[in-house]
Amino acid sequence: MRCPYCGHDDQRVLDSRPARDGEAVRRRRECTGCGRRFTTFEEPERPRLFVVKRGGSREEFDREKLMHSLVVACRRRPVSVPEMRQAAERVERHLFDLCVPEVPSRTVGDRVMRELFAIDPVAFVRFASVYQDFSSLDEFTSLVERVRAAQVHGTSVDRVLDPHNRLLLG
Ligand SMILES: [Zn+2]
Repeated sequence: MRCPYCGHDDQRVLDSRPARDGEAVRRRRECTGCGRRFTTFEEPERPRLFVVKRGGSREEFDREKLMHSLVVACRRRPVSVPEMRQAAERVERHLFDLCVPEVPSRTVGDRVMRELFAIDPVAFVRFASVYQDFSSLDEFTSLVERVRAAQVHGTSVDRVLDPHNRLLLG
């Protein structure tokens, strides 16, 4: 970086120490051009991810909101809070590992459904019926039948999520 006094771009680091409760590093530098000293702070960039909703609006990914939707789906089901928390963390990690600035909301919903499918069939059906915006009993019945078939035959979650086997991308 450039010296704030003379603009020279090389310094010696004299001292590095934790700052802001360990959230940052403070470095004391000495410009090799003019010899004057200055201080820099270095801190990790907070990862940010935006979710693009169906209508096209964006909101920042919110871990607590994700956790809340899992809690609602798992209400009165034999799923512990740590299990839900771990599922939420797996969803979050998957999304951040995509290394993109924004993801469609269906990508989030798809990951949540995959987690719930592995955890509890009732929670899965609850979440899927809300998330996929079911408007008829037929849709609901069809999903329940696919879940039941999957449990009997060990079908993959992909066939349950998408009976027509379209590719789930995004
Ligand atoms: Zn300088």
